[in-house]
Amino acid sequence: MKKTKIMLDENDIPGKWYNILPDMPTPLSPPLNPATNEPVGPQDLAAIFPMELIKQEMSQDRFIPIPDEIREIYRSWRPSPMYRAHKLEAVLKTPAKIYYKYEGVSPAGSHKPNTAIAQAYYNMKEGKERLATETGAGQWGSALALATTMFGLKCSVYMVKISFQQKPYRKSLMQLWGADVVASPSALTQSGKKMLEKYPDSPGSLGIAISEAVEDAATHDNTNYALGSVLNHVMLHQTVIGLEAKEQLAQVEEYPDYIIGSVGGGSNFAGISFPFLMDKLKGSKDVTAIAVEPDACPTLTAGEFRYDFGDTAGLTPLLKMYTMGHEYVPPEIHAGGLRYHGDSPIVSQLYADRVIDAVAYRQTEVFEAAVTFARSEGIVPAPESSHAIKCAIDKALECKKTGEEKIILFNLSGHGHFDMGSYDSYFSGDMKDLN
Ligand SMILES: *Cc1c(COP(=O)(O)O)cnc(C)c1O
Repeated sequence: MKKTKIMLDENDIPGKWYNILPDMPTPLSPPLNPATNEPVGPQDLAAIFPMELIKQEMSQDRFIPIPDEIREIYRSWRPSPMYRAHKLEAVLKTPAKIYYKYEGVSPAGSHKPNTAIAQAYYNMKEGKERLATETGAGQWGSALALATTMFGLKCSVYMVKISFQQKPYRKSLMQLWGADVVASPSALTQSGKKMLEKYPDSPGSLGIAISEAVEDAATHDNTNYALGSVLNHVMLHQTVIGLEAKEQLAQVEEYPDYIIGSVGGGSNFAGISFPFLMDKLKGSKDVTAIAVEPDACPTLTAGEFRYDFGDTAGLTPLLKMYTMGHEYVPPEIHAGGLRYHGDSPIVSQLYADRVIDAVAYRQTEVFEAAVTFARSEGIVPAPESSHAIKCAIDKALECKKTGEEKIILFNLSGHGHFDMGSYDSYFSGDMKDLN
């Protein structure tokens, strides 16, 4: 019988996260303290992160148990469905089989709650009362607002001012889940005040918002900081996606030739691909994993692999990663979640070692793919996720030429219900390819 949705039972939610660190061909370069150039130790991070997350950040254990309290909350939307894209395949007339894992079913509408729930949990366990974070487009802020409300924590979100004004409904969603949302730069922190004195009309940036959230956490004992991507523990938490995907494909007796994910900081790509890369690194399977980025912020395909700051102000430890330079301000493309100057150090090292591939696309071709997808499969994709769709369509069209029946798996990281303004811009014909 032809299957469209491949489902797992609630009791099949993975019991462990997969940690790729011990399986990497080149060990990860450690984060460095910018003042001393020495590797950062656990104590340096303890001012803003709970000890359990610091341990996960550095762990060499291949599998790390998922606490029951986290799995209980995952039950609200996990295991997430996997779809076979029969209707898209028919439109493309491809012999390839296209599968996608749909993370838009979470209450916040993306994969980000997979780590937000875990981060809120460990902070609650270690007695913290509040989390501070930044958000650009609002996806991460809404995921953390959801997670903190589940564990009875307070949440302060520094939202880039221009998004605060342009994306009022993401802000409303965060407030609905009990978060305090302030436009950044704000008068609540020294870094915000300094910026406002110099540039009273500053539209804000992710870099400034990170500085404000870190400062808030560092100066309040009851408060920690949370980051939605880039760090090793975030990649770890997202592996529930790929672990489930492996079970789902096994149900239909398939194994992917291609695994595709969009890359901002690297977490949804890591989530879907790392559990399969485990087999590749062991030498038991061959699979091509493709990280897809916007050509307006082509970190992997055109950046440099070197130590750089995680934020614009230069307050964070130095991370060895592909970077456009920490002062690079990407053009205002609609896929706000992909506008980050750097990338996950793990994803970066895997790319440097050519364990994974990367490709960059222009925003109009990405929206064209999004429309093809919405008109065949029905689901409205987020602009970020549509980068993965574009790549999957390209691979399927290659198969049409060669007649090969390849198995393509991509991660549909979120829905686009809050992105109608971007679709309007595409249909009005005035969307530009910015780079
Ligand atoms: C944040 C976001 C991304 C990019 O972040 P990663 O850490 O690279 O996954 C991609 N898709 C959606 C829907 C997002 O919200």
